[in-house]
Amino acid sequence: MAYYITEACSGCTACATVCPTGAASGQKKELHRIDETTCIECDACGKICPEGAVRDASGRVPERVKRGEWKKPFFDKKKCNGCGVCPDVCPTGCISMGPRTPKTAMPAPG
Ligand code: SF4
Ligand code: SF4
Repeated sequence: MAYYITEACSGCTACATVCPTGAASGQKKELHRIDETTCIECDACGKICPEGAVRDASGRVPERVKRGEWKKPFFDKKKCNGCGVCPDVCPTGCISMGPRTPKTAMPAPG
């Protein structure tokens, strides 16, 4: 299931601007759509929509959150094992693997 957009859409383009995968799209002042094959249900479109036109996969209107109040992820360096999955799946490519430094090095096992 993916997010979807109702007829309440005013075509402000905000959802298309923040969507990390390009799943939300449309022309200005026209009804926008979400491509269910590329939507990863990240909730960005729901948080930003001024019309409450976005529905999550359960049909609920996501809570609107001011852009400046969106939570940002952080890495717990004590728990990261360097598996490399996050850079592979990040839709915007903002995560990368790098050499270990004394600050990021994992504690020796045992
Ligand atoms: S953010 Fe809401 S109103 Fe604006 S284009 Fe997207 S669905 Fe339509
Ligand atoms: S939930 Fe995320 S991936 Fe899906 S359409 Fe909205 S912003 Fe794009």
